[in-house]
Amino acid sequence: MESERIVPTMCHGCSYGGYNCGMLAHVKDGKFVRVEGNPHHPLNKGKLCAKGQAAVQWVYNEQRLKYPLIRAGEKGEGSFKRISWEEAMSVIAEKIKETKEEYGPEYIMLSKGQSSGWAGLHQFLWIRFMHALGSTSFSNWGPSVCYAPQLMYHKQLIGGPSYARPDYEHADLIVEWFTGGGTGGAARGGVETLDTNLRSIALKIIERVNKGARLIIINPQLIALGANGRVSRWLPVRPGTDGALALSMIHVIIRDKVYDKKFVSEWCEGFDKLSAHVKQYTPAWAEGITGIEAREIEELARDYATTPRACMRVSEAPQKQDLRSFAMAVPILMAITGHLDRPGGNAWFFPAARLGFSTLSNRISSKARERVLGGDTFYIKSSGRHSAFFRNVIEALISGKPYRPRTMLVFGSNPMSTARNPALIAEALKKVDFTVVVDVSKTPTSRYADIVLPAATRYECYGQPGIWENHLTMSHKVIDPLWEARDELEVTLDLASRLGMGKDFWNGDHRAMVADFLKPAGVTLEQLEQSALEGIYLPRTEWMDRRERYEELFKELPDGKIQLYNTVLEKEGFEPLPTYVGETEDPLSAPELSNEYPLMFTDEHSAYINHHSWMRDIPWLREIRKHAFVKINPATAKKYGIDDGDWVDIVSPHGRMKAVAILFEAIRPDTLMSQHGWWQGCDALDLKETPPLQEGTNPNVLYDWDNRDLITGDITKNTMVRIQRGAPPEEVLPVREGL
Ligand code: SF4
Repeated sequence: MESERIVPTMCHGCSYGGYNCGMLAHVKDGKFVRVEGNPHHPLNKGKLCAKGQAAVQWVYNEQRLKYPLIRAGEKGEGSFKRISWEEAMSVIAEKIKETKEEYGPEYIMLSKGQSSGWAGLHQFLWIRFMHALGSTSFSNWGPSVCYAPQLMYHKQLIGGPSYARPDYEHADLIVEWFTGGGTGGAARGGVETLDTNLRSIALKIIERVNKGARLIIINPQLIALGANGRVSRWLPVRPGTDGALALSMIHVIIRDKVYDKKFVSEWCEGFDKLSAHVKQYTPAWAEGITGIEAREIEELARDYATTPRACMRVSEAPQKQDLRSFAMAVPILMAITGHLDRPGGNAWFFPAARLGFSTLSNRISSKARERVLGGDTFYIKSSGRHSAFFRNVIEALISGKPYRPRTMLVFGSNPMSTARNPALIAEALKKVDFTVVVDVSKTPTSRYADIVLPAATRYECYGQPGIWENHLTMSHKVIDPLWEARDELEVTLDLASRLGMGKDFWNGDHRAMVADFLKPAGVTLEQLEQSALEGIYLPRTEWMDRRERYEELFKELPDGKIQLYNTVLEKEGFEPLPTYVGETEDPLSAPELSNEYPLMFTDEHSAYINHHSWMRDIPWLREIRKHAFVKINPATAKKYGIDDGDWVDIVSPHGRMKAVAILFEAIRPDTLMSQHGWWQGCDALDLKETPPLQEGTNPNVLYDWDNRDLITGDITKNTMVRIQRGAPPEEVLPVREGL
């Protein structure tokens, strides 16, 4: 009998590039039995959120995909039969070869979801795999509905290699703009607070508020971070009007001359044009649009501008269709107030080393690069045509123009649940000749696959290193994969060998690959393994701790300066200044719809009990919230005869979804807030799977695919709806594994 042993690893309830909360996994008699937070890990300091606590239930969940499957019915039907790994892998390798020979490498497509992280080992390996094949048809489908499009605007406006994060530790004023209900990432400094999990960002904010910093929350609902008297001001902005609020803040700051004159004169261009442009955006004008009193806007703007150490965090675009006005106004606010790259403002944080290996981009011919789907869009061009544009991918799959990818590999991505317009996604998936889905769960997307492969959870996988600032650590395998699950990385290495590319892929040697990934840090795999509990602290560089690094950070901007009047966008035919347009489906722009659809609807993404479309099959988590939900103000609920816990129908001009009403005082009375990602059943609680399409539990059926940001293609998540009591959704039979 084995005594209990402890494996230091990382939690993978959130996945961002391999660096997550530190976890101590307890193993007894070969079984993963319980977890505790790793007190040595600087991110979570011994704490784990509910998702982390439930890791064991996730691993041993009988609902997981257990065996390789091959389709045995129509696409979408969900009928499969079991096959061996050998059979599955040889069919997949053969299909890839055929597609490449018959059509060309760009007809092979790989897409991945957030489960694999954005910048870690998985991302490097899969891009390398595609490049080795000669294909640039790599597409992350998530960014069309998340935070990433904003980053393009930030980069165009204020430069830097990534986005300027809030420096909470030194801030006296913290503005949280539509955060908390956003995506739940553990480490990237992006987007999580108390509503998504309980540590890191939330802990930093709470610590700082306890020391006297003021917290302002701009959000149609009050997020949990603001509870217990922590919030000093809550501005319940009307969904989809954040751009108007941000622009009127710029108006006040310039009008009252409370901008940072020295910074503006030294580091910004186009200030006069911006000043003239924002004269129209008075607080009185914004009040009529945002629902925030002009007096409040005046105070907010002056407070933010005149507090020497003020930072701002913006989550997955609160405003989607008119993202441009908001996503340009926010970096302009940071710039004209001089709150950029200064202590307590929004600063660029860099790791002490960038992990990675070559992605073999030199293997891509110029012809292949030209053929990237959506490659002519500014969004893809400005990122170097490294990957395809989600929207163009879907449209190309449906229309065949300019060409239809024939073979698709989908790793940990579930667009049937998380992307807008699931009916269109289903149509697109049906058109692919051959699709492979690799996942932990039998997702709605896997129903459209020809072959489905069971992925191991990270607790069953050999190390994935991650770095945050100068802390380098690695997740370690806790137990061997259950059933016939396999590590996605090993599947990829195996496939590369079968395709004759073994030499470029460490001849299938996983350890050699990880060692290569670590090389930029100057640390060996053995050293990292020996420091499993505490990780390794690399020396901090002078660059990491220096601030006001404007010369270097702005060097790729025209004239090395912030373009308040953006000449780059202008050259591309876009407006150089942020002009408020607003959302198409909103009582102000579509008053004719107001009688039939009197309420505004939007949705949040991850929560403290699940991550996007994952984890509803975990009983501990599902007990906390059993059904897809919609938050509604009690006064509104009363008006429509709805009680807490009632099933309701929510109807927009585009579709109908079902959810359970949660009466919530701290939400605007004209707003309903739901959450995406609900489809999964939970056998342990006898809760059944629900449809991802109409009349199911998917908010994405309510939005209009065509209401999107012109530059980034970010699709709206604001629409007008009505609500009424209704019946629960029909049950869906889970994917059938056959014999
Ligand atoms: S926030 Fe929670 S789910 Fe995310 S990595 Fe940390 S413990 Fe895991």
